[in-house]
Amino acid sequence: MTTKKVSVIGAGLAGCEASYQLAKRGIEVDLYDIKPTKFTPAHSNSNFAEIVCSNSLKSTDLNTASGLLKKELELFDSLILKTAYNCSVPAGNALAVDREKFAEEVTNTIKSFKNINFISKEVTSLPEGVVIVATGPLTTNDLSNHLKSILDSDTLYFYDASSPIIDFSTIDMTNAYVKDRYDKGSGDYINCPMTKEEYLTFYNELINAKRVELKDFEKKEIFEGCMPVEIMATRGEDSLRFGPLKPVGLDHPITKQKYYAVVQLRKEDNVNSLYNMVGFQTNLTFGEQKRVFSLIPALKNATFVKYGVMHRNTFINAPKLLRNTFQLKNNEKIFISGQLSGVEGYMESTMSGLISGINAYLYLNEKPLLNLSSKTMTGAIINYITTCEAKKFQPMNANFGIVSPLSERIKDDKLKKQKIVDRALEEVNNQIKSVGE
Ligand SMILES: Cc1cc2nc3c(=O)[nH]c(=O)nc-3n(C[C@H](O)[C@H](O)[C@H](O)COP(=O)(O)OP(=O)(O)OC[C@H]3O[C@@H](n4cnc5c(N)ncnc54)[C@H](O)[C@@H]3O)c2cc1C
Repeated sequence: MTTKKVSVIGAGLAGCEASYQLAKRGIEVDLYDIKPTKFTPAHSNSNFAEIVCSNSLKSTDLNTASGLLKKELELFDSLILKTAYNCSVPAGNALAVDREKFAEEVTNTIKSFKNINFISKEVTSLPEGVVIVATGPLTTNDLSNHLKSILDSDTLYFYDASSPIIDFSTIDMTNAYVKDRYDKGSGDYINCPMTKEEYLTFYNELINAKRVELKDFEKKEIFEGCMPVEIMATRGEDSLRFGPLKPVGLDHPITKQKYYAVVQLRKEDNVNSLYNMVGFQTNLTFGEQKRVFSLIPALKNATFVKYGVMHRNTFINAPKLLRNTFQLKNNEKIFISGQLSGVEGYMESTMSGLISGINAYLYLNEKPLLNLSSKTMTGAIINYITTCEAKKFQPMNANFGIVSPLSERIKDDKLKKQKIVDRALEEVNNQIKSVGE
């Protein structure tokens, strides 16, 4: 009998999770990482599964999107998640880890598997056979160039500059209206108007708000690619009013009132419940985005399901290239996983490593691959990244806006979340039974 083997490239969160899921099911794994001989600009620890920035893996509360994702991962026996719980430090409702201890423990577990063979090497072209590519947001140049050659060259991106995304149900529509500029369009925009006084308050807070410090390797390429809204604002009090907050052609459709400035929100392609802030690429800290953007009257109680980010990030155009199994559409032996697959965040990257690992095992055993619906948080993220509009693709994190709505209308928010959670966990449990250990 021939040995069933998978090459996993990258021993980060996704790569370690994938390797664990494969190894515990008896598959031979060749796990490659450039470390410890060389490091990407954000990595410095010789151990695997390095947490590069914040040590928070977000909420564990089951009524939150990240809490539900964690529960689903726990049911799937995620190595990264259980190690995170073992190495947690007090952080209220959030799961935060001692990053050194966490990386050491993941490394020890991975190295304890006799069927995982670790190879310290910079991979510059993909090996033969079944491969999971999980080299993350800082995939090295040579491998990126190789990926470009096997993908379509304009489907690999090197930085992420995205605007905040808002849950529609939290927009105050008594202070907003649907209208396209000069009524040219099909009603895809929600307009959030401001008086002069409201605009000036917003403007002053915006230019003085706290920004994220970009790393040296990020500065040049990101700022050349896209200007953050707060930097555009520093060019003069009216610069935004002649740019993304231009009020012309946006008079109120019924009262005909004219406004001093108007923030536009555009529907996130096929997900009606999510709207992004047009022209609001931003480098403000998440706390400051919430504080300053909530000064826009229609957004005073808005829930930001995803904050704007501007950072170095290598990711593929998932809707164009990826199946919902994390396999490339044009090559079923190649799985793209982790941040590189177009998911955003530590737990999301872990999730994609986990699903890729299980699917690679199922593929080698000629069994049907996992196929989670958008009733689960895992399936919702996968289905979003693989089916949203390719032209505007930006990475996505866990949030309830992408989860399928319940068939019944429930007003009580707590009860509604409970039903969504129960429905998701039931489906995950059923899928797990079909895979086996
Ligand atoms: C600076 C920065 C800060 C971030 N901050 C956060 C945050 O605070 N919260 C959050 O949720 N997410 C954050 N992210 C996003 C993302 O969630 C993390 O980067 C996450 O670690 C991604 O997991 P991954 O497994 O895809 O990649 P990684 O964890 O980065 O793992 C990739 C591995 O591949 C290796 N590698 C790279 N190229 C090669 C090659 N050619 N050959 C062999 N090995 C290679 C690397 O050494 C690394 O070990 C941040 C990203 C960056 C870049």
